[in-house]
Amino acid sequence: MLLSSDITYLPGVGPKKAATLAAELNVRTVEDLLCCYPYKYIDRSHFYTVREVDETMPYIQLKGQIVAFEKRGEGRQQRLIARFTDGTGFLELVWFQGIRFIEEKYTTGVEYVIFGKPTRFGAKLNIAHPDIEVASEAQQGVAAGLQAFYNTSEKMKRAYLHSAALRKIIMAALSDRSLVITETLPEATVREYALMERHRALVTIHMPTDSASLVQAQRRLKFEELFYVQLSILQQSKWREQKFKGYVFGTIGDYFNRFYRTCLPFELTGAQKRVIKEIRTDMATGRQMNRLLQGDVGSGKTIVALMTMLIALDNGFQACIMAPTEILATQHRQAIVSLVETLGITVRLLTGSTKKKERQEITQQLADGSLQIIIGTHALIEDSVVFKNLGVVIIDEQHRFGVAQRAKLWNKNIHPPHILVMTATPIPRTLAMTVYGDLDVSVIDELPAGRKPIATYHYFDNKRAALNRFIRQQVELGRQVYIVYPLIQESESLDLKNLEDGYQQMCETFPDLRIGMVHGKLKAADKEATMRCFVSGELQILMATTVIEVGVNVPNASVMVIESAERFGLSQLHQLRGRVGRGADQSYCVLMSSYKIGADTRRRLQIMVESTDGFVIAEADLNLRGPGDLDGTQQSGLPFDLKIANLVQDGAILSVARQVVQKLLDADPLLEAPAHRILTEQLTRLKRDAINWGVIS
Ligand code: ADP
Ligand code: MG
Repeated sequence: MLLSSDITYLPGVGPKKAATLAAELNVRTVEDLLCCYPYKYIDRSHFYTVREVDETMPYIQLKGQIVAFEKRGEGRQQRLIARFTDGTGFLELVWFQGIRFIEEKYTTGVEYVIFGKPTRFGAKLNIAHPDIEVASEAQQGVAAGLQAFYNTSEKMKRAYLHSAALRKIIMAALSDRSLVITETLPEATVREYALMERHRALVTIHMPTDSASLVQAQRRLKFEELFYVQLSILQQSKWREQKFKGYVFGTIGDYFNRFYRTCLPFELTGAQKRVIKEIRTDMATGRQMNRLLQGDVGSGKTIVALMTMLIALDNGFQACIMAPTEILATQHRQAIVSLVETLGITVRLLTGSTKKKERQEITQQLADGSLQIIIGTHALIEDSVVFKNLGVVIIDEQHRFGVAQRAKLWNKNIHPPHILVMTATPIPRTLAMTVYGDLDVSVIDELPAGRKPIATYHYFDNKRAALNRFIRQQVELGRQVYIVYPLIQESESLDLKNLEDGYQQMCETFPDLRIGMVHGKLKAADKEATMRCFVSGELQILMATTVIEVGVNVPNASVMVIESAERFGLSQLHQLRGRVGRGADQSYCVLMSSYKIGADTRRRLQIMVESTDGFVIAEADLNLRGPGDLDGTQQSGLPFDLKIANLVQDGAILSVARQVVQKLLDADPLLEAPAHRILTEQLTRLKRDAINWGVIS
C-alpha cells in the first residue's frame, strides 16, 4: 500500500464512506487521511471503577460487562438500556438511536471497554451513547493511553464516520505492514533540527504513547507544513527574480529633484527618508521591486508613494496608484495634484464612476504615454486599461486586494513594473513571513514631529451627556468631530437605522451646529459632496458608517467617537482612531459601548485605551482572534491551508523553517540536488491539492 493509494483499499472503507470522506474532508488518498490530525486527546491510560464514578467527572473509561439489555418506551420515545458492571457496582448505558445496531453488535458476557461522560438521571448514574470496544481490541493503539479525537461533520456521522470510526480507519492504515511512509524533508534538515522522522511522527500523532513524544510529533509536522509554505513562497519569488528582470531606474532626475527642493511642504521624517532610499536602491538594481511599505496611520506614506512615482517619471515611465475605494482614490488625486502643481505632470483619476467619454480619453492617453500618473480603483485592472510603459504600481491598503488582483496588475506589461504595496495595518512578524512572505519590507516607524498621542477613553452610555458637552467644547475651539457607527452586512438596515437615529438626536442636541451624514447607501455623488464639506471644514460633525475607515485626511478633526465600539475588531478601531491626531492639536478617541460586553471585548477596548502603537495592537488582535479570522484564507494568500501549524503560536518554528528554506534555496535555487528532489515532488503534490484561489477571486 502506498500513501497515494485510494482510501477504498482500507478495510471498512466502502464507496459510500469514501465518497463522504472526499466530500466532507477532501480526503481521497491514504496520505490525505493520515493528514487529518486529531483536534484533541484524552488520556485513556486510566480505568475508573463504577463505585468511584460520579456525575461531575469528564469523560471516563471503565472496563466490565453488560449483564442485561432492556428496551423502555415506545416509538420515538424508545430507548435501549444496558446494565453494566465491573464488579464494584452497576450503572446504565443508554441509547436513544441506532438501537437495532447496538443490540446486534454487543452482547452480555463479553468484556468491554466503555468510554463516555457520566450523568445523573434521578437516583441513577448513566452514560449515554458510550464508545464501546471489545476489551482485547481496545488496547490496540491506546495501550499507553492518549486517545485521539477527530473533527467530524453531521454528514459524516450519518455515514457512521464519527470520531471513533475515523480513528479505527486511520489505525488500520497505520498498522498495515505494507504501508511505506517516505520522508518529505531533506535528511540533513531532519538531523540538524532533531526532527522526528516522518513515519514515526504520523504514527505518534494518531497513536501517541506519551505526551512527550506527542509534542515531538507535533513539532515535526508543524515544521514540515511551515517549511513547505515557505518553500512555495520563496521559490516563487526566486523564480520570478530570475525570469523577470526589473526596469533599472538609474536616474534621479528633474522631477524628483525639483520636487525635493521646491515642493516639499514639510521636512521629511528620518523614517520617510530612509524608506525612500530603500525604494530608490531597490528600483535601481535590475531586480523587479516587490516591496511592502508598512506605516501606521498618519505616518506619511502618501509622500513616499509620490516620490517613488517621480523616480519612474524621471526614467521616462508611467506610474499608477490603486486605492480600495473611490473616496480614497479621489483624495490621493487631490493630495498629489496639489503637491506637484508646479511640476507640469499629468495626473488623472479613473474609477468605476468615470464617464465613458472621459474613460476613453484616459485609456487613449495611457496607451500613447501622454498620461504620466493615473490614480484609481479596481477600474484600473480592467483589460481595457493598457499602458505604454508602466514603471511602478503603488497599491494602497493592501489588505483589501487579493493576491490574484495584484498579479493581474502585474501582468499589464511585458516586463513587470516595480510594485510598492502600502499598508497601514501593521503586520505581525509571523504574518509578514507567510502571507506577505514574497515581499521585501520597509517600515515607517516614526510619526511626523509634533504629533501627540491620541487620548483614548472607553465609556458606557451613562457618560453621554458629558460626551456631548465635550464635543461642543471641541467644536467651539474650531475642531471637527467624527462619529462612527458599525456597519455589518448582515444587519445593514438595522445599522443604518442606528446611524440615522443617532443623526436625528445629534441634530436635536446641537441645532446650531452643521452636521453631515454619510453611509454606503447614499449616491456616490452625495457621499463625495458631504465628505468634501467635511474636508473643507464647512461641516463640524461628520456622522458615518465605516466608509471613512481608510485613508481620509482631515488634519483639523480632533475627536473620533466610535459608537458600539464592541462590534469592531481591534485593527479596525485602530484604523478609525487614526483619522484623528493628524494635526498639531491634542486629539481624542472615545469608544462608546453597551454595558453588556464580555471579558474579551472589555480587554480589547482596554488595549485601545492603553496603546496607540499599531504593532502592539496588531499582535494583541492576532492573539485574541487567532489567525483563523484573518480575512479568510482566500485573502491571506497562503499557498495552502494549514492543518496543524498555527501562525500565532508557532512563530518560532516558522522563523526556523524560513531560515532553513532560505539557506537551502541559496545553495540550490532550482532544487536540483538529488536530496532535494523530494521537495519538488511534495510541493507539486501540495499545490495540486490546494484550491486554486486565483480562479476563485
Ligand atoms: P498615511 O501614512 O496614513 O497615508 P498620510 O500620507 O496621509 O499618512 O499623511 C498624514 C498627514 O501627515 C498628512 O496630512 C501629511 O501631509 C502629513 N505629513 C506626512 N509627512 C509629514 C512630515 N514629514 N511632516 C509633517 N507632516 C507630514
Ligand atoms: Mg494613506
